[in-house]
Amino acid sequence: MKSVIITNPISQSTLIRKALDNHGLIVFPTETVYGIGASIFDPIAIQSIFTTKGRPQDNPLIVHIAEQSQLEGLVTDVSPLAKKLMAAFWPGPLTIVLPKSLSVPSLITANLDTVAVRMPKDPLARDVIRAAGVPLCAPSANLSGKPSGTDFKSVYEDFFGKVSIFVEGGIPEFGIESTVIDLTSQIPTILRPGAISAEEIETVLGMVIVSSSQAENTPKAPGMKYQHYKPYGDVIILDGTTPKIIEFLQSIPDQEAVFMGANEVCGDLFDLPLNTFALGPKDHVEVIARALYRTLRTLDNLKVKTIYTHTFSKKGIGTALMNRLEKAASQTISL
Ligand code: AMP
Ligand code: MG
Repeated sequence: MKSVIITNPISQSTLIRKALDNHGLIVFPTETVYGIGASIFDPIAIQSIFTTKGRPQDNPLIVHIAEQSQLEGLVTDVSPLAKKLMAAFWPGPLTIVLPKSLSVPSLITANLDTVAVRMPKDPLARDVIRAAGVPLCAPSANLSGKPSGTDFKSVYEDFFGKVSIFVEGGIPEFGIESTVIDLTSQIPTILRPGAISAEEIETVLGMVIVSSSQAENTPKAPGMKYQHYKPYGDVIILDGTTPKIIEFLQSIPDQEAVFMGANEVCGDLFDLPLNTFALGPKDHVEVIARALYRTLRTLDNLKVKTIYTHTFSKKGIGTALMNRLEKAASQTISL
């Protein structure tokens, strides 16, 4: 398949419409990670998202809209809580699960009677949706099981020749997927931690919310049961102080292992023989989150077999960062 790279979706909207008319897929940047999108009204293209990514069919897709008006027709009810969240966080990295209307194909929602909707804030993402003229369902642009794409080169490598259009953008602001919150359960429930923290949501709603691991009898985001974010190498989390980490690393025979962590910790390991990959300053967990997938993909390309890392603060986006790291890891060693 011919793949075209564009940088201005509005001026190339004819191309975008043509691609969609031919059941094509569009890779585009968002403020979280790159997405791979199809028209929500084209079952052939939607099916091809699952096939192209190798995504399990029972893992539903998020519907992306550019304007509030596009929500009508997708959902049957917008509760006062949903309105509060939309006013506070849209456009932005919050995905809201609401009761689905009949016009949303069940292929998108894996036969659930709910639909996950988000209005991204990245101007290129919104321009793509505007140019398309329809909401787009779009999961992260990565082969299933691999770290999500957070730079253009990665998504281009994965999907060249498999999608019609690439919208070239920069490095996404957050680098970690959106928070998914379910408003169809009795208590608002975070199904997937993400770029917006539970604390931020609680402040806006003025109430305590739960996360799906705490919630009883609440269906989880179906996608969370899969082992996402599996890099080529074995990721091992070292849970302990820097002196303990140094002691541990000195005791291992593996000269080819690498260490990925906060700048300060990498600096403290300077005298050890292993290579280090610094993600950002320890107290700026948002910088670290932004660099995580890109670094994992670099390590994939280098075919590094063992990647040691450490635990990070769970403040703000730190909860999502640790969630992804734990999913990528084969084990955590308490030191
Ligand atoms: P991705 O598109 O790869 O960022 O993943 C989307 C996430 O949202 C997955 O964990 C899905 O299981 C979850 N999701 C999408 N639609 C729904 C829904 N209707 N109900 C619950 N979770 C959903
Ligand atoms: Mg994904």
